[in-house]
Amino acid sequence: MSYFTPLQRDLNKYLSKRQVEKIYQSYLFAEEAHSEQKRSSGQPYITHPVATAKILASMHLDGATIMAALLHDVIEDTDIEKETLRKRFGREVAELVDGVTKLTQIEFESYAEAQAENFRKMMLAMTKDIRVILIKLSDRLHNMRTLTHLKTRKQRRIARETLEIYAPIANRLGMYAFMIEFENLGFSTLYPERYRVLEESIKRARGNRKEILAVIEKALKLRLKKAKAPYIKLVGREKHLYSIYCKMRRKRHRFSEIMDVYAFRIVVENVDLCYRVLGIIHNLYKPVPERFKDFIAIPKSNGYQSLHTTLFGPYGVPVEIQIRTVDMDQIANSGIASHWLYKSRKRGSHDNHLRAREWIEEVLQIQQSTGSSLEFIENVKVDLFPDELYVFTPQGDIVKLPKGSTVVDFGYAVHTEVGNGCIAAKINRRLAPLSTVLRSGQTIEIITAPGARANPNWLGFVITGRARSGIRHFLKTQKRSQSITLGRYLLEKALQESALVQKELNKEVGNQLIEQLNLKSLEDLLEQIGLGNQMAPLIIRRLENQMHLKHPSSQKSLSAPLSITGTEGMVLNFATCCYPIPGDPIIGVLSAGHGLVVHHSNCRSLAAAGGAPEKYIQLCWEEEVEGQFRINLRVEIYDCRGALARLASAIAGAEGDIIDISVEKKDPDYSIANLMISVHNRVHLANIISAIRKIKDVVKVWRQRSAN
Ligand code: MN
Repeated sequence: MSYFTPLQRDLNKYLSKRQVEKIYQSYLFAEEAHSEQKRSSGQPYITHPVATAKILASMHLDGATIMAALLHDVIEDTDIEKETLRKRFGREVAELVDGVTKLTQIEFESYAEAQAENFRKMMLAMTKDIRVILIKLSDRLHNMRTLTHLKTRKQRRIARETLEIYAPIANRLGMYAFMIEFENLGFSTLYPERYRVLEESIKRARGNRKEILAVIEKALKLRLKKAKAPYIKLVGREKHLYSIYCKMRRKRHRFSEIMDVYAFRIVVENVDLCYRVLGIIHNLYKPVPERFKDFIAIPKSNGYQSLHTTLFGPYGVPVEIQIRTVDMDQIANSGIASHWLYKSRKRGSHDNHLRAREWIEEVLQIQQSTGSSLEFIENVKVDLFPDELYVFTPQGDIVKLPKGSTVVDFGYAVHTEVGNGCIAAKINRRLAPLSTVLRSGQTIEIITAPGARANPNWLGFVITGRARSGIRHFLKTQKRSQSITLGRYLLEKALQESALVQKELNKEVGNQLIEQLNLKSLEDLLEQIGLGNQMAPLIIRRLENQMHLKHPSSQKSLSAPLSITGTEGMVLNFATCCYPIPGDPIIGVLSAGHGLVVHHSNCRSLAAAGGAPEKYIQLCWEEEVEGQFRINLRVEIYDCRGALARLASAIAGAEGDIIDISVEKKDPDYSIANLMISVHNRVHLANIISAIRKIKDVVKVWRQRSAN
């Protein structure tokens, strides 16, 4: 008899002969693949995947899931690859096995209590197909059942992980049967002594309870019969061991207090009967006020539905009653997995995975319409509608981000300073561009530099509100402080050339003026001047007038020109008509809203603009200017093979970067190449031009000072 036989018996109950045969093929494949391996118990390895598949078969999972369960350790433990599985058993099975493998590879070695929740979420988020989770849970369940064969340390690690990660996931998916087994097995492994003591106490208490339990059960049944309310099941129930333990610990209840509660479950045919039965038993024993909960009208966040009430029983003992339909009872035990179980009862053909999705969506709707806990959307939604991702900091903390988030989003999620200061990043220790879209499970390290500034271009790819507003805020404050600096310079300059220079500026007059301009402070005024919205000389004139002073007649500029480096920031821009570079004679023009625009002194557009002299600012270059500046070159060149290539290599040879190039035909033999090149300064430009002149096909080369 093969290990497959007992599984086959279960499969025959709900799958076709053809499907079972296909599953058998995957069994043979897995058996062969694992033939060298043994379980710690000494049994052949194949017994584990078979047991996993059997758990899933008990929930009537589809053929692909059963096949994937049989193959679930093949990629992880043998040298067989996903591609091989795809060719042999199709894409669906291969994807499922791959999903399980990925979950297995997450290491839960060390994490703080607070992190556990994020790990749970991450597991769900990494899974596109809920069946992957079901296989993983079944895999873990069998491993927990056979845990005693491992070394104690490993047992404890797996048990803790089961309690912190897997039991809550089972709970979240409404799979209480799984959750209870996970918790009891995990608890008994982690705290064997406490488990033993508690188990014995329960046994003893059970003896004392028996009598009262029987009295209540009889009374309930009798009353329901009299009222002609049919029920399908009426059973006494007990809390599971681990939940008693938690209740004692968390709520500091004494053991006797917990065990003094008598609990029953009544399962009926339909919802109407649920409420009828409720009325009948409220008539039998008085309900405890405010203990009634209607989870039928407002389901729990994992889809659980039932009526809960507590009664004053005989001898004053509290009696807890749950009333629900068969369907609700099924969901209470198997949760999301119950949808596969239903297949045999409902019309087939419909894909069960789809139905599970529909169920989730239904539950979501209930949640939304009743406005109850959003927890479900937060947690279960992520696996079926993955719109969140979870990544690690280098310290192992988990950061939750919306899907599509980039490195910069991550930076701002960590801290605004980190976002503003980021210049590069490492994803899984490899350098990656700041615009890289992140995936769940990656470790992200942000490299910051003290002088780094948020870049307006980032707004093109960040998706989180936090990053967006962080960048905007940074740019705004930066622009403001730069404007104020420039504004202060301009005002001081105008002041030196005014009649006010010998007189004390009347503060009151100054404040009056700020008010007249509808501004709040001197800083606001300086900002407006820096942005080019207010002209410093005109402000000074108004002050002179208000203080009844006469403006000096001499127009000559007394103050030194403003020296610039090109790195002043957002209130200083270089004109794109004449492209001035360090070494060129320059002049600044104030442009409303944009601050100072730097032009070449000979720029033609200046003459064309004309205008008020107070708009022009004398400028000069700092001694040492570093950076890249753009210029336009025009090159007349003889059309022959390779002429453009020679031109490009001459420019590259002189260390010039070509940013843009276009060619226009002048006549049959000659063309004009328009080049945009970035250079450091005039000397650098001269070197480039002389390199170009050396090419024999070049007729003429000149710098263009104005676009037209
Ligand atoms: Mn396994």
